Amino acid sequence: MEAKQLQSLRAHSEQLAGFIVRLTSYYEGLSAEIDKELQSLRGHLSGKIDFTLATLSMNKVSQLIMLEPYSVKTLTQAWIRQLEEDIQAFQRLVTEPAARSQAAKASSALKKPIKGISAVLPLYQKVLKCYQSGMGNAEESAPDNQPNNRTVQLKQNLIDELGQLVQTYIRVNPEDDYIASLQERLGQGLTEEELLNSCLILIRVMVQETLTEANTAGKIIQRLNNALGNINGDVQSSISKSAESFEARQSRNQELRNVLEDMEDALEGENNIDDLKQQAQHYLGQMANSLSAGEEAERQEQEGLMSLLVSMQQQLSSLQKQTDSYRKKLVEQRINMYTDPLTRVPNRMAYNERASKEWDRCQAQNKPLSIAVVDVDHFKRINDKYGHAAGDKTLQAIARHLKTNLTSSEFMARWGGEEFIILLPDHASDKLLNRLNELREGLAKLPFKFKQERLTVTASIGGTQCRTGEKLDAAFERADKGLYKAKSDGRNQVVIQDNE
Ligand code: GH3
Ligand code: MG
Ligand code: MG
Repeated sequence: MEAKQLQSLRAHSEQLAGFIVRLTSYYEGLSAEIDKELQSLRGHLSGKIDFTLATLSMNKVSQLIMLEPYSVKTLTQAWIRQLEEDIQAFQRLVTEPAARSQAAKASSALKKPIKGISAVLPLYQKVLKCYQSGMGNAEESAPDNQPNNRTVQLKQNLIDELGQLVQTYIRVNPEDDYIASLQERLGQGLTEEELLNSCLILIRVMVQETLTEANTAGKIIQRLNNALGNINGDVQSSISKSAESFEARQSRNQELRNVLEDMEDALEGENNIDDLKQQAQHYLGQMANSLSAGEEAERQEQEGLMSLLVSMQQQLSSLQKQTDSYRKKLVEQRINMYTDPLTRVPNRMAYNERASKEWDRCQAQNKPLSIAVVDVDHFKRINDKYGHAAGDKTLQAIARHLKTNLTSSEFMARWGGEEFIILLPDHASDKLLNRLNELREGLAKLPFKFKQERLTVTASIGGTQCRTGEKLDAAFERADKGLYKAKSDGRNQVVIQDNE
């Protein structure tokens, strides 16, 4: 190679090395490990450049960066999510119109697509500004014992409690549009009227829900309905009261306007200064009376609203407790319905449900489904020799053994007596035989001891594969035949029944 070419190549490599060194600073700060590797990369690329070591180092850096879970994208998304939560919290807290509109602007800015990481900072500033303005207002606003603040607090409590109730229902009915819209509105902060309306929506949903869901827990439903009736009454009366007080305010304003007109007329024709004074005092007195009547009415209205909010809050929290305990009972009932009381494993009803689901799934995916019937050998002898209680304990131990040795895709239930049934997805015949033998051998190894006597308990198993299009009952019959054969062939064995 010519000297000139060599020189130009060297200059280019140095340029490239310099560029990579500058680029490394961009990745700094992702993790300590990446930083360390970047530092050694810079070492290889400065002074006497070693491209071989630099290449190794670069490979390592790129591997580390690929492993790093915090890509710029996920970090940005997490920041934006946090900001959205912050601004929502702020919107729930402020009532002052200017602050609310500032918050709404910030919130809509957050909803726009983010153009890059540098766009996040102005958003932070926006949200921070909202909080600053909110704090300013909080310092200026009235002290705690003013009705205004207490009403705001009460409203907030009520909103929180409604929020919790809504959460409960969303868990049960994730697809309910009504509830979803209510949750959204709660998140946006509500006026008193909106709050009352939200209560009404929730009440409707709860009544509907409780009426349709179950009539098993009759007493609880009765209590729920009573409580709901009370809230409904309170809300209705508050709505009619606010209509009344609106009319009263209108008529007070009209009264004031009349007094002012009278006053104008009277003063126009009056020339004597003393009479003028007297007339003026008379009318001013009338106005003062009317104004103080207005103040009193407003104070009463405020008090009425507060006591309504207090009572609604109490009723909602008691409702919350009742629905919680009601739900717990329902869940317990449901669990008990599907559990065998002696062995605490799924019962025949649970099997029937699961079996039909598995069957549908396997048919849809064209996958095999296997079924096995397990029957304890000479179980009657255990009962006869050691008593029924010992028999029960044996059944419990066998059920526990089977249950704990199943994989997550297998399912077992107590079929009745000393018989268990197992569903096994996706097993070819020879694999099924091995799998069932594994379970059988494990069972035979369980250490039983009755009246100081060590005892081995064994079981016979019949298994088969459900054929395409075949009903599960037919497969069950075949597995049962396999079990019969296992018994007559001497017990403690597995027979896979594939023909017929
Ligand atoms: P084989 O090997 O032919 O299956 O003999 P086996 O004695 O196990 O069969 P058999 O059907 O003659 O007896 C089953 C016994 O299981 C009869 C019944 O009293 C007893 N059994 C059924 N349910 C329970 C239970 O919940 N607890 C107890 N302790 N025994 C039960
Ligand atoms: Mg039996
Ligand atoms: Mg038996």
